[in-house]
Amino acid sequence: MIIGIDDTDSNEGMCTTYLGALLIEELQAYGTVEDCPLLVRLNPTIPYKTRGNAAIALKLKTDCPERVITHIISRIKELSRMECEKTNPGTVFILEKDYKRFKPVLRDFLEKAVRNVIEIKEAKSLISEYGVFSKGFKNGRGLIGALAACGAMLNLEEWDCTFEYLAYRQKERWGTPREIEMKSFLEADRITYPQTWDTVDLTNRLVVCVPRSADPVLFGIRGENPDIVTEAASLIRAEPIERFAVYRTNQGTDMHLLSAVNLSEIQNMHSYRLKGTVSAVPKTILGGHVIFPIRDQEGNEIDCAAFEPTKNFRLLIRKLRPGDRIVLSGSVSSGTLNIEKIEIKTLSPLYKEENPKCPNCGKHMKSSGQAQGFRCKKCKTQAASKILHQVKRDLTVGLYEVPPCARRHLAKPLVREKRSDVDIHPAR
Ligand code: ATP
Repeated sequence: MIIGIDDTDSNEGMCTTYLGALLIEELQAYGTVEDCPLLVRLNPTIPYKTRGNAAIALKLKTDCPERVITHIISRIKELSRMECEKTNPGTVFILEKDYKRFKPVLRDFLEKAVRNVIEIKEAKSLISEYGVFSKGFKNGRGLIGALAACGAMLNLEEWDCTFEYLAYRQKERWGTPREIEMKSFLEADRITYPQTWDTVDLTNRLVVCVPRSADPVLFGIRGENPDIVTEAASLIRAEPIERFAVYRTNQGTDMHLLSAVNLSEIQNMHSYRLKGTVSAVPKTILGGHVIFPIRDQEGNEIDCAAFEPTKNFRLLIRKLRPGDRIVLSGSVSSGTLNIEKIEIKTLSPLYKEENPKCPNCGKHMKSSGQAQGFRCKKCKTQAASKILHQVKRDLTVGLYEVPPCARRHLAKPLVREKRSDVDIHPAR
């Protein structure tokens, strides 16, 4: 059977992946856990999310599905942060006999949950129409993620995947500062990058795979396969862990991006890869955010932002000029695209005004006074106005990304990019 679970945690604690790690052990009493458990990231712009909008799915070979269902429901009741208004757990159970029947409908549901916004009633009507075993708590919003996670498990062959090794803290340490040895994370990164990524941010001198919140996660190592994330994790020196789990995930795959043909199609709470031309010089606003508009061929415009947390990425964005043709990836909220990646396709020529040059000696002429043109004192040559001089752009075409410390879970890091038609500049 396949078990989907979502929305058990709150900002004060717990993590649905931790419940998954506990269940992997507990469910051995009822059967065999098959394949890697799944950690599925859904629409990153959803306001109901606690942190990264994650749901999980497990696959279990069992002769006693009823006992499994009873066990899971009781563990969700015990461990979920029900007191938090935003915590609305949901769990879904797909029996093996139904795999074929549910596969296409849940594939579509997964895609929608990653790229669009789904109403709770849509999840509930799918559940009743298809007769899915499920249990929703409180308003049952977690049923959305639970169904989507089952859809991911039923359609593994359809999506790109990466892996994450999640190490969990001992319970008595939850909520206290994490004890880690930074050097060991740098070492793990040095040995396993580029097969792993986002362990550290070298430019900003940060360990990025260790959360700061009160949840049970000590660290999470992301990489291409289970062996490499396990190898990297074995190099980490930190406080003792209670347990770990290796999840297969859609993190780092760009699964959230829709292609927008026209900027007028763009909607809030959706993520896109879109083409446009820079239409004004980027401005730095209060808080250090850098904003500029892009325009499409029909003249539609959208504001795009490199927010303060994107750190040094903003230096690059500030160098854009009107006329530069670019392709951006990112999520739209409040009418602004939050940039995750940029491909600079072409740079527009940049001109600077300067005094004309003397045709005789080649030196710059001097002004003869306001509105009186320019002249060369030595050769006595004259010219009426300033000239435009093309200056070299301090920017090169290619693909760029925000630094690891600002990466969205679903954004595909450039270190995974296989394109050979463009210069790739992975952030480190
Ligand atoms: P954590 O990362 O710490 O596990 P979280 O960020 O995953 O927490 P949840 O507690 O799972 O946040 O809350 C997200 C809620 O939004 C869930 O109830 C989930 O079912 C719902 N949800 C997920 N995707 C969508 C979507 N596309 N449309 C509407 N609701 C969604």
